[in-house]
Amino acid sequence: MNTHKLFRRSRIRLALWYAVVMGVILSLSGLGMYRALIRSNWKALEREIESIAGTLHDSLEPMLPASGDPVVILQQIFPELCLSGQSCHVSASLIRRHTIGISDRSTYYIRLFDYRGKLLAFSPNQPAQIPNRLNSTSWQTIRASDGARYRQFTTILHGADVNFAENNSTSWGYLQIGRTLASFDAETRRINIILAVGFPIALGLVAASSWWLSGLAMQPIYQSYQQQQQFTANAAHELRSPLASLLATVEALLRVPPSERENINMMLDTIERQGRRLSNLISDLLLLSSLEQNTVSKPFQVCCLNDLICDLSEEFLELAIASNIQLYSSVPEHLIYVLGNEQQLYRLVSNLIANAIQYTPSGGSVRIDLKQHDLTAVIAVKDTGIGIPPGEKSRIFERFYRVDSDRSRKTGGTGLGLAIVRAIAQVHKAQLSVESEPGRGSIFTLQLAIHAFKADSSQIKLPN
Ligand code: ADP
Repeated sequence: MNTHKLFRRSRIRLALWYAVVMGVILSLSGLGMYRALIRSNWKALEREIESIAGTLHDSLEPMLPASGDPVVILQQIFPELCLSGQSCHVSASLIRRHTIGISDRSTYYIRLFDYRGKLLAFSPNQPAQIPNRLNSTSWQTIRASDGARYRQFTTILHGADVNFAENNSTSWGYLQIGRTLASFDAETRRINIILAVGFPIALGLVAASSWWLSGLAMQPIYQSYQQQQQFTANAAHELRSPLASLLATVEALLRVPPSERENINMMLDTIERQGRRLSNLISDLLLLSSLEQNTVSKPFQVCCLNDLICDLSEEFLELAIASNIQLYSSVPEHLIYVLGNEQQLYRLVSNLIANAIQYTPSGGSVRIDLKQHDLTAVIAVKDTGIGIPPGEKSRIFERFYRVDSDRSRKTGGTGLGLAIVRAIAQVHKAQLSVESEPGRGSIFTLQLAIHAFKADSSQIKLPN
């Protein structure tokens, strides 16, 4: 397929389209998954901060002093917090106590502000150079001077005495809980790396599978194109031989003196024979193409198979006698009807009988049987002829295929007989089978659905 320019170009174009469409779908779904993953990590992180802040908030509020210097009381509540303006001992045990169940406790820090936003206390692991001014926005993301990022949550603390007089408000101050985003950023980087490496690999696989899939999709088209080409070549070949012989005879005829009347008659016979052969071939080709395109407009009628078999055995009797072949036929006493095109069914069975006689040597026999099995009519054409080699059985229904082309041509066969048989069987949704043993004979069997015949012919049903 790849050696043929048109098919190679079509395959490339198809593969490109596949790759683009699959690439876009893959990119969009990858992007969606990436965003969902980052978002869920971010939400989980915020929920964690919020729950720690909530726990601390609830345990702190009842202990907050209503008045006086809060620093002294804070020192009692949080002995391990560093107080603003005093020297600080580094310890993370406070956070540890309030964040039981959180795996990485050293990542959190606490800051406490008074209601004016003045920093009162902070945990020793708070990021360096973080501003001491309060920013009361609930959620903030801070970037420290070393580039590390922190997510911070601020909540209002209310004093035990809600009428806290000194600040004319209900707020005692603010609690700030923050955590480093190092693990989140590391996770995001890891996902980015996986995507950066995985995405080109996935795209490469998409491209390779697109090439393979486009090959698969083109295969039947290429096969049918090859068959078409083969058919054209065969048809041209079949037409050339009788035409060449016809032209040669005409040339010879022109050279024969008018006195040799006998020779002229012989040559005219040859011309007529070759002309008839050409005409048969062309009408067979036309019939085949109309059958394959299903353009035969004649509607199906009820056909009596008993009559069809009797007519055909009568018609072929003369040929059988001339070939010294015994021709038998048997039909049941009751009439068997099928729905179909009578002319086509006639042609189908006559092709089978003609072949049976043609490929049976002198002294042999041919049997035509019509039987009924349940709702199926079975026509079997059996001969004691040369048979068909097992490897050829599947090919004999191909157009112009012959097992022994020389012999077949001599008998006047066009190589289209069984192709027409198969096409008519398909149009009638009939089953066609062949059993054969070389040297012993062949049986061609046709199975057709029986039509439940009604006296009122207006009720004829067409097959689905
Ligand atoms: P042809 O016109 O050559 O007979 P067909 O399409 O009718 O073409 O048959 C195809 C080939 O199948 C024949 O060339 C012949 O070799 C084989 N064939 C068909 N019918 C028989 C048969 N009854 N016995 C043996 N060979 C057969």
